[in-house]
Amino acid sequence: MKTLVVIGSTGSIGRQTLEVVKAQECLLVIGISCGHNIELVTQQVDIHRPRFVASLRKDPSLQVCFPRTRFFWGSKGIEELLDAARPDLVMISVPGVAGLRYSLIATEVSGRICLANKETLVCGGRVFLDAVQKNGVELIPVDSEHSAVFQLLEGDVKPREIFITASGGAVRDLKKAELQEITAAQVLKHPVWSMGEKVTIDSATMVNKGLEVIEAHYLFGLPQERILTFMCRNSVIHGGVIYEDGTVKLHAGVPDMKIPISYSLNHPERRPMDTEFDLTSESLLLEDIDEDKYPALSLAREITGHHARQIAYNAADEISVEAFLAGRIRFVRIFGIISSTIQRIDLDAPTSYNEIMEIDRTARIIAEEEVLRCSSL
Ligand code: MG
Repeated sequence: MKTLVVIGSTGSIGRQTLEVVKAQECLLVIGISCGHNIELVTQQVDIHRPRFVASLRKDPSLQVCFPRTRFFWGSKGIEELLDAARPDLVMISVPGVAGLRYSLIATEVSGRICLANKETLVCGGRVFLDAVQKNGVELIPVDSEHSAVFQLLEGDVKPREIFITASGGAVRDLKKAELQEITAAQVLKHPVWSMGEKVTIDSATMVNKGLEVIEAHYLFGLPQERILTFMCRNSVIHGGVIYEDGTVKLHAGVPDMKIPISYSLNHPERRPMDTEFDLTSESLLLEDIDEDKYPALSLAREITGHHARQIAYNAADEISVEAFLAGRIRFVRIFGIISSTIQRIDLDAPTSYNEIMEIDRTARIIAEEEVLRCSSL
């Protein structure tokens, strides 16, 4: 049986990955890693009995409970775990730019990366793709829209265009003026998907779709103008490809992350899932996205392919979403902070992981200054 390591096993994608593996009995989980959720990781170790566990928070009592498991602690723990486990597959399901480090190591120690971490491509850019190519590792996207396009493109000629869809998040039915006073609790009520806090806020600003356009640019090697975006309110259509002869192939199905997770683990096979999709009860409707209401999407298009700006876009978003969740800034300020940070950053494209992280740090400092400016407004 092939072996799997799940990086970020206590997050939304990580938990669902372990559920899929348990239900399908398709892989042997030999390693899991978490940040601070010791309670949940203890349950997961108890169920899956992995040989290796990494945890950011040190808790020696775990080693006492599970003497046959080898534990790694602290910020270097995940790297040590990957090196010790050398699994067939790695699921990268941590959020944020931290995922890039683990994805890069995974290219050296594993045969397949199941990638749920957008920042690996947005911030890693060519540096990451070169590592994938050099090590001959398979890269399978887990992001639902990219999984959809990946599945549609397989073994097919290059399309004229591809598209990914957006639900519009929790604010899609509010007018632009109504966004001024919206609270974090309101934005966190996503209409379709159940996801982590960061990505739920990113759905409402459409920064998420912006990151996904950049992600698609690197995954599928297309310029941003050939990566279209549409609103699909029920998230039943995830993506599609459009050919020169006018043919459109759609990828549709139940909006359930377990489906792209399972696909990434089992590709090129498909395993049965207990999801029923009733074709006659769901509307298959795409709408244009109001870019005036969602300026973060247009901004992402402008910077696609500008590696340093992509890193700044992501870093400024992480800082401003955190500030919004902490009640320091209003929702509508997120875009301005990202935009100002990008304008203030003037750096060449990075050629290494260290240069990437240097730009990330600089961008975070600038974004923090912008947050302070906004919070006094
Ligand atoms: Mg997505």
